[in-house]
Amino acid sequence: MTSFATHLECSRCQEDFPVDQIQQVCKSDGGPLLVRYDLRRVRDSITTEALRTRPETLWRYRELLPTSGEDSVSLGEAMTPLNVAPRLGAALDIPGLLIKDEGLLPTGTFKARGAAVGVTRAAELAVKTLALPTAGNAGAAWAAYGARAGIRVVVVMPVTTPDVIIRETSAYGADVYLVAGSIADAGAMVKKACAVRGWYEASTLREPYRIEGKKTMGFELAEQLGWRVPDVIVYPTGGGVGLIGMWKAFDELRAIGWLDQKRPRFVAVQAEGCAPIVRAFVDGRNESEPWPDPRTFAAGIRVPKALGDFKTSPSRGLTRARSRQASASRRLLGTSSCSKRSASQAASRSPWAKGRSRSRCRLPARPRGCSYAPKGARRSRARRSSAAMAGSARARRSSSSTPAPVSSTRNPFKATLREIWSRISSPMNRRRCT
Ligand SMILES: [Zn+2]
Repeated sequence: MTSFATHLECSRCQEDFPVDQIQQVCKSDGGPLLVRYDLRRVRDSITTEALRTRPETLWRYRELLPTSGEDSVSLGEAMTPLNVAPRLGAALDIPGLLIKDEGLLPTGTFKARGAAVGVTRAAELAVKTLALPTAGNAGAAWAAYGARAGIRVVVVMPVTTPDVIIRETSAYGADVYLVAGSIADAGAMVKKACAVRGWYEASTLREPYRIEGKKTMGFELAEQLGWRVPDVIVYPTGGGVGLIGMWKAFDELRAIGWLDQKRPRFVAVQAEGCAPIVRAFVDGRNESEPWPDPRTFAAGIRVPKALGDFKTSPSRGLTRARSRQASASRRLLGTSSCSKRSASQAASRSPWAKGRSRSRCRLPARPRGCSYAPKGARRSRARRSSAAMAGSARARRSSSSTPAPVSSTRNPFKATLREIWSRISSPMNRRRCT
């Protein structure tokens, strides 16, 4: 099989670039490039019935992947389960709560999706060395897939990266470097090294194929729900590639007639100590500002400035009707579980908030940062949790006349979900949405 991909398109200016050559970002404006497909040919080539006979891996959606399909770099990417969570849903007062457990993928996180497709494409383009910064799990995932493909992987991490991730990435054979500062500083070093040495830069959204792997999360969600989309998707957000990927996935499935026009509401959740998307959304800006001194225990979402954080114009390939929807939807969105600005303020401004049912909620990703507590972090985590809860309490006091008492012993994850849901479904939020 040959790829159905036709070209790469700049997400800022829509300039086209050939898909059969190494490309990084738009040469005109630095915008991330998106893979475009011959969707009519895809529609004529595969049906949902035929899909059912294929192995349950992310490669089952190969017509909507940029790879040739001949020599995939795979470590066994099984479809992840969409678990019903009735007891947690009842405790949080969220009917129909589902959790997509991405922790079952190779290397333990959804980063494997992006690495599987990204490294496969890098191998097809005869890349010998690739480099990327990471603050969390991406480095280990790319190192593992790079080892499988025989590609040298260079990973640059902030010195604050959890030790287990540094060791895991090294164990897969990557060259690991630690730098002072945040992932932004690591990214600057990678960019410079790639420019000097001619390495392939695999930083988030600085190559076009990681997002293609991440979007299979959206394909799986739709298929597991009988080719329907969830009402609400709540998602922990650092660089935001998973969110953009799912959005792209649903767009492509609609284009080939596998989904109706319904769109889910996306809720991007960031930590109080690093919430540039939330701040930009609340302030109504077109693009986020770098977050000074980013701090959060969840290392994977400690991203002070995302590359794909801007409003874009509609794709030339879309119909006029779909273009209107797209331009309305490609706005920044976000909520923070514990920021001073409430999640509802952010979520209610989302175009998806208007006229949406709020009866069901899906959580597509297992929260990250829970499994690797660095030495001495438990005490500081407890302090931060208390601080976060205090932030939540302040937010509630400012937005509700009957604030719930907050106990420092409450599970912060549980409180976070409860608060998100209460703000999504509160009457105040509904009024603001209509
Ligand atoms: Zn451009």
